[in-house]
Amino acid sequence: RAKHSGRSTFAWYTPDMDAEAQRRKEIEEGLVKALRLDQFQLLYQPQYSLSDNKLKGYESLIRWEHPTKGTIAPDVFIPVAEDSGLIEDIGDWVLFHACREAARWEDKSLRVAVNVSAAQFKPGETERKVALALTESGLAPERLEIEITESLLIANTAAVVDTLQKIRALGVSIAMDDFGTGYSSLSYLSRFPFDKIKIDRSFIRTLGENPSTDAIVTAIIGLGRSLDVQITAEGVEDMRQVTLLRAAGCHLVQGFLYGRPGQASDAASVHLGETLTAGALAASRSAAAR
Ligand code: C2E
Ligand code: MG
Ligand code: MG
Ligand code: MG
Repeated sequence: RAKHSGRSTFAWYTPDMDAEAQRRKEIEEGLVKALRLDQFQLLYQPQYSLSDNKLKGYESLIRWEHPTKGTIAPDVFIPVAEDSGLIEDIGDWVLFHACREAARWEDKSLRVAVNVSAAQFKPGETERKVALALTESGLAPERLEIEITESLLIANTAAVVDTLQKIRALGVSIAMDDFGTGYSSLSYLSRFPFDKIKIDRSFIRTLGENPSTDAIVTAIIGLGRSLDVQITAEGVEDMRQVTLLRAAGCHLVQGFLYGRPGQASDAASVHLGETLTAGALAASRSAAAR
């Protein structure tokens, strides 16, 4: 990965980078083992509708249960998996596992969202795997949602659009994740067949504190509504945010206020899901009644 800086070829190479390369190598080797020994787990974070406070589904979020290091977050290993190509096998595991678990949930109306990174997205392959995961698990296509990010749309436009359309034709929905953090070209929204836009947590964090953030969030929600695209706010942590999002017409919310990512056994029971978020729901209902 040595980049030619135009100066000495040795100039970029420091002991720090050596340590970083070593760290990545260890993670990569660990990931190969993790796949073989089945050390991954999916947690599920609830998504609620703001208009009626109903649970609509869960986003699946991967964790690595390392035998000695404990639980490792995706931000630590997903980038390494992407660079090494291991994301393909990990991504397959996630897709099939999420479909299988969701198919077993008691409430058959709940959706499951699966993150698919740009590095694992392969036109011709991805649509085939999605179809296979549905048949194999018996999950109704309407219950599956694929989350992609803007980085996917930068390269390989025509083939990507074609694949997204094929996935949609199966009955699966497509969500644009982390909206606002990438290039956020508004033209993506007309060129690509999205069902949902997820406003990145960084915008939600300063909601109500920063007038320009408020304006941007309100504009994205307005745009979504006029394009007939559902809007999810990510990272909702307090009622102040809920009040503003509700006033702006946001459709769905996801965040620690409504529930942290939890085990599939929790997701399996809607009642438990509601108990966990009872506080947030009660607060949300009384705010709506005001
Ligand atoms: P993401 O898809 O945007 O997922 C949302 C992240 O925000 C999750 O972090 C979630 O735990 C966190 N979060 C949710 N609500 C709140 C909140 O109210 N406050 C705060 N501070 N954080 C909140 P997580 O699980 O660590 O995942 C990080 C990222 O790793 C994900 O961002 C996604 O890009 C990636 N990722 C996770 N699972 C997978 C996977 O199965 N496949 C792929 N390709 N990427 C994944
Ligand atoms: Mg996501
Ligand atoms: Mg996100
Ligand atoms: Mg993210």
